[in-house]
Amino acid sequence: MTAPPRITAIRTHLMQAGPLGVSGWAADVRASITSGTRNWLFVTIETDAGITGLGEGSGWPRVVETAVADLAPLLVGQDAFATERLSQLMAVAMMGHGMSGVVGQGAIAAIDMALWDIKGKALGVPVWQLLGGAVRDRIRCYTHAATPEQARDAVARGYTAVKTGGVANPVARARAIRDVIGPDIDLMVDLHGPPWLTLPDAIAICRDLAPLRPLFVEEPLCPENIEGYRALRRAVDVPLAAGERHGGLHGIAPLLFQNLIDVAQPDSGRSGGLTGMRKVAALAEARFATVAPHSGSLGPVAEFAAIHLLAAIPNALILERMDPDWPGRAAVIRGGCPVLRDGHVDLPMAPGLGVAIDLDVVAASPSIHNVGLPSGGWPAGTEASTLYVQPRTPRPGIG
Ligand SMILES: [Mg+2]
Repeated sequence: MTAPPRITAIRTHLMQAGPLGVSGWAADVRASITSGTRNWLFVTIETDAGITGLGEGSGWPRVVETAVADLAPLLVGQDAFATERLSQLMAVAMMGHGMSGVVGQGAIAAIDMALWDIKGKALGVPVWQLLGGAVRDRIRCYTHAATPEQARDAVARGYTAVKTGGVANPVARARAIRDVIGPDIDLMVDLHGPPWLTLPDAIAICRDLAPLRPLFVEEPLCPENIEGYRALRRAVDVPLAAGERHGGLHGIAPLLFQNLIDVAQPDSGRSGGLTGMRKVAALAEARFATVAPHSGSLGPVAEFAAIHLLAAIPNALILERMDPDWPGRAAVIRGGCPVLRDGHVDLPMAPGLGVAIDLDVVAASPSIHNVGLPSGGWPAGTEASTLYVQPRTPRPGIG
């Protein structure tokens, strides 16, 4: 075997994506389901074999960009095939900064993803082949619906699963959508885990949602509230999902160790890349939990990484998509977005991740800002002073 390629350069490509003026994490308070403004961070890794790999990191992309630049000198000259060793090296390099968190895991994710892309391209196989081979030939998808009309439209386009939710009246919204889509379409409900959603309220909401037979209820509590998840688990009998705001394997692990969730949702841009996500998937498998990566609001490269993971693990549940998304998404990705057929996308067959982006389009949309407060105001019962931990009063109806 010829020598593996060596890393010669690591470059970052940060862009503003989505409509400006609309915060990215409050989609439920608007009529639109198109995700709001956010940053996409792409990373390219060049090698002495002339092969360039492409990755993507989330976890506060503008800060992750700095982290990637900090790590780059440690990686130049290294064996580009050594994904596990380099993942460990990056984690050790960050030890002095504390636990790696979403920023560190975002940097590792972007670099690791690009290294898997390089390996696939060098060996002439899609990444799912390197992850153990395909256990399925297509991936089931869901999209988002804020209204019954949007849900009906998604089903008409072939989706067999839709997700709704919100921090205001999620039960009423879910009931209205269930009425329209009928019993045979899967329905998920995302509560977005706001810290002002108390354990008693989360219990009440989950109990109200149970008759709707949700595929899962997502983030019923904020991610820091592990004790709350434990109590909620005992109190309700709907499937629970969480993990998008946790950082990588060690972030999600406590939820799985304690059987607190049925569905692990590693964010494919901040969960240590494919090296990290497949460990999350294995841990979930050991707990008879499934995997539904958080990837809808991310860029196209992280979506492809999620597709490759879901192709190769037994416990893949479903792929999150933001469809329709901001039109710029299709301009960034060369060759177009994955095509939905009968509610599924096919496995990419090209070597590597099988995705390419137009760096000129990325450069033409520079990052302007990278944090946001919720658009459309705070939900009833919360204080406009934007306190993370606050009393919820007057306590509005939650159903
Ligand atoms: Mg969510």
